[in-house]
Formats: sequence, structure tokens, C-alpha cells
Amino acid sequence: MRQVAIYGKGGIGKSTTTQNLTAGLATMGKHIMVVGCDPKADSTRLLLGGLAQKSVLDTLREEGEDVDLEDILKEGFGGIRCVESGGPEPGVGCAGRGIITSINMLESLGAYTEDLDYVFYDVLGDVVCGGFAMPIREGKAQEIYIVASGEMMALYAANNIAKGVQKYALSGGVRLGGIICNSRKVDRELDLLQAFAKELGSQLIHFVPRDNMVQRAEIHKQTVIQYDSEAAQAEEYRALAKAIDENKMFVIPKPMTQDRLEEILMEYGLMDI
Ligand code: ADP
Ligand code: MG
Repeated sequence: MRQVAIYGKGGIGKSTTTQNLTAGLATMGKHIMVVGCDPKADSTRLLLGGLAQKSVLDTLREEGEDVDLEDILKEGFGGIRCVESGGPEPGVGCAGRGIITSINMLESLGAYTEDLDYVFYDVLGDVVCGGFAMPIREGKAQEIYIVASGEMMALYAANNIAKGVQKYALSGGVRLGGIICNSRKVDRELDLLQAFAKELGSQLIHFVPRDNMVQRAEIHKQTVIQYDSEAAQAEEYRALAKAIDENKMFVIPKPMTQDRLEEILMEYGLMDI
């Protein structure tokens, strides 16, 4: 069983990418569980056809400790098992707590079955700290991908995430598997992301184009893979799925200093001084 965590700044496209790529893996016959680790609890709605999955924290709040697996885990597209950790009420408590509670609960309810090929954690965060680091602490996820684009803030966040990954990699088995570019149609974005990934000692595992097909499928509460499996964008997500499935490059990332990051951004015309 490969346990994979997808990190990246809010709004970058983690949930869209995770759901489409896992849908791609499912069509290759893989058995998958997706655990949403974002207080927004919208990590699995495209796999579940828009069904608002009740989060683990909400279920605990409403039903007390007596929770069954079927209360928190629903099967979606391609048999993908979907869980949302949820979060505390806004402004109260640590947003990472739901993740810790959820993973412990999934373990004790026997959700990590032997037949699973993959568990994906879709984790919000500009930095990897506290509860948000939970999936990569204690030997849960061994493999990290960071979603980024050519936008400056996305790369700042990706570099900060790489710092967190480095810290946990040095003390445990977690490794960076690559950077996923979710394009924002920035000039020279492909070159920039390749240079960024290389500087980290990693690779750009796939460049996902920006495509309105994503919105069209989203309105129908589906992944592109499900909505129009012939579409060019569906092929991109299948290519990403295949690249991850065949990936052999797992590294301890070497995050950049702020100065070095800004130098690279300047080189590719994103910053002018
Ligand atoms: P995150 O989970 O990182 O917060 P989302 O996956 O929810 O981000 O993405 C935010 C929005 O961006 C989505 O609602 C979707 O409409 C849009 N989006 C993501 N990826 C693409 C893409 N490749 N092409 C077009 N739109 C995209
Ligand atoms: Mg999300």
C-alpha cells in the first residue's frame, strides 16, 4: 500500500488534481482511499457526485464516540473510498486536529484494508506544521507531491512545504516524489517549474494544463475522467496518474533560501528589480 500526501497552498488545485488523478488510477484498476485533510471538507465531492460527505469531526460531534466505518467512509467513482476529516468550528481550536482524529479513527475502524493500493491525503497548508504534518509523521504517508503553479505565492508556499518535508524526511522515511504543476498560464511556466523542482533536487512529475473542461465537469459534480473520459484534460490526468504509479524518484528535498527562490523567479521574468 502506497500512502501519498498531496500538499500545496489553498486554492492551487489540490482537491481537483487529487480527485482526477485518483479517478485515473481507479480506471487502471487500482484500489484507493482518499482522505480529505482540509477543514473545508470538499476534497471528495467530485468523486461522490456532489454528495456532502459528513466529516469525521462532525460525525463525532453528533454521534459521540460510537462511530461506524460506514458513517464516515463512502464509496465514490471507481470504488474510491472517500473520507473527510473536517475541522473545528471556525476560529476555535487547531485545524490540524481533525486530521489526527480521523487517521486514528480510520485505523481503529479497520479502514486500511490489505487490498488498498493507495491512500491519498489531500492536505491544506502553506506550511507543514502541527496537525497538517500528521499524515507524514509516524510513518503514515511515505510519499509527498506538492501542487504548485508559476505564480509567486504558489512557489513560496511550495518551498515552505519542502522545508517541512525535509524536516520529517531527515527524521523518518518520508520523501518528496515530485512537483505537480497545475498551470495558471504564467509565461514560461513549464521552464520555471522544471527549474524550481530541479533546485529542490526533485522533478516536475507532470504539467497539468489549465482547461475549462475542469469547470464544466465540476458543475456536473464530477471529475473530468468521469464527465468526459475522451477529453484532452482527462488524458492529462491519466498521464499524471501513470507518472505517479511508475515514479521511482523519491528524494529528501533541498529547500531554497528566499534569495535563491527570488533569483529563480527573476530569471524567468516573474520578478523585476
Ligand atoms: P485546493 O484544493 O488546492 O484548495 P481546488 O482543487 O478546490 O483547490 O481548486 C480550486 C478551483 O480551481 C477549482 O474549483 C477548479 O474550478 C479550479 N481548477 C483547479 N485545477 C484546474 C485546472 N487544471 N484547470 C481549470 N481549473 C482548475
Ligand atoms: Mg481542497
